[in-house]
Amino acid sequence: MGDFNQSVILEAIRRSGEGLSRIELADATGLSAQTVTNITRRLLEDGLITEAGRTINGPGKPRITLRLVADSRFSIGIHLDPAVITFVLLDLTGSVVRRRVVRTPAKDPRRIVDVMAQAVDILIADAGVARDDVAGIGVAAPGPLNAAKGTVIDPPKLHGWHRVPLRAVLAEATGFDVTLEKDTTAAAVGELWTGHGPADDSFLFVYLGTGIGAALVRDGDPARGSTRNFGEIGHIIVDPDGPSCLCGMRGCVEVVCTPQAIVEQAERAGVFVDDREGSDVEAVEARFTLLCERAASGDEPALQVLRRAAEHLTVLIAALTNVLDVDRVVLGGPFWSRLAEVYLAEIPTLLDRLSATKAVHTLPVDGTVVGDDVGAVGAACVVLDSVLTPRASDLYLEE
Ligand SMILES: [Zn+2]
Repeated sequence: MGDFNQSVILEAIRRSGEGLSRIELADATGLSAQTVTNITRRLLEDGLITEAGRTINGPGKPRITLRLVADSRFSIGIHLDPAVITFVLLDLTGSVVRRRVVRTPAKDPRRIVDVMAQAVDILIADAGVARDDVAGIGVAAPGPLNAAKGTVIDPPKLHGWHRVPLRAVLAEATGFDVTLEKDTTAAAVGELWTGHGPADDSFLFVYLGTGIGAALVRDGDPARGSTRNFGEIGHIIVDPDGPSCLCGMRGCVEVVCTPQAIVEQAERAGVFVDDREGSDVEAVEARFTLLCERAASGDEPALQVLRRAAEHLTVLIAALTNVLDVDRVVLGGPFWSRLAEVYLAEIPTLLDRLSATKAVHTLPVDGTVVGDDVGAVGAACVVLDSVLTPRASDLYLEE
């Protein structure tokens, strides 16, 4: 039980932000004073926590506040996206110490892994961190994944990638333990870590990347699914009259809600006068940015396209929240900040109309608190999670 109790204590200290005394820790965790004393002694010796100050509360001995030592452990998060790869170095409290973004090299997986390994070295050197203090690397990648084998199966727009054993190859190239997580799940973990919600927070995270994905946090724990592929929602139908999809149906999320689909709708609506040059990720992204800029400056046709997109996304969100019955909805991912203004103006009212529980509560809809790096930050948090956070599954193993 030792390691489980240790992670219970570390998690309680982390969540408190300001730190906790031993007595507060015993109250917060339900562990005995003796257990708290023993474990905190070990954590002090290991340098993971420190005695940060004394508070005197009435008579008796002053209470010593225990806090995490932010620079005692670090983790690295990598978000693999078809356009760019984002790298972050996080300290033990989950704060971003260093960040780096590189263009994704064309298609060749070997080249991409080399670029990743090089960027990891630079990140560590720039931060002046000892390699031994880095707990590992978390990689957020588009699903579906084969988590057992550590392979990315067929990431969209990365056609050279077919069942690339990313976890093993990157571990070999860097010498670090590598954890592979779906970008959507990683994003939800990042939100959970950074958001300071209640310990039993339950939310749906809707991830707006090159593809659209969903993740679920239930009672403070991310749901991963039997094969760690929770949230493959690309072929849920949101517009029965929408364009036909490769899957054989019409109006799926993938052909209606993705940035590429939204750009195509804008082109059909005549938002742009000239034809798009190329159909690659970069050309689509450039047009998408332009569309959002036009909408922000009050261009009515551009606004109409984004409002329609918000409507379609709300059909998806309502289908999911009606099944999952969560406290709130969080939107995020690399395309989020450009959509935030229009989507936050449209989605809450539309969602309320479609919500099965509208008589019980109004579902709050918020943008992520993490920002556009939520995938990379979340992947790094997954690694910190394995250092700090108690899991019911760990408890079972040790019983
Ligand atoms: Zn489809």
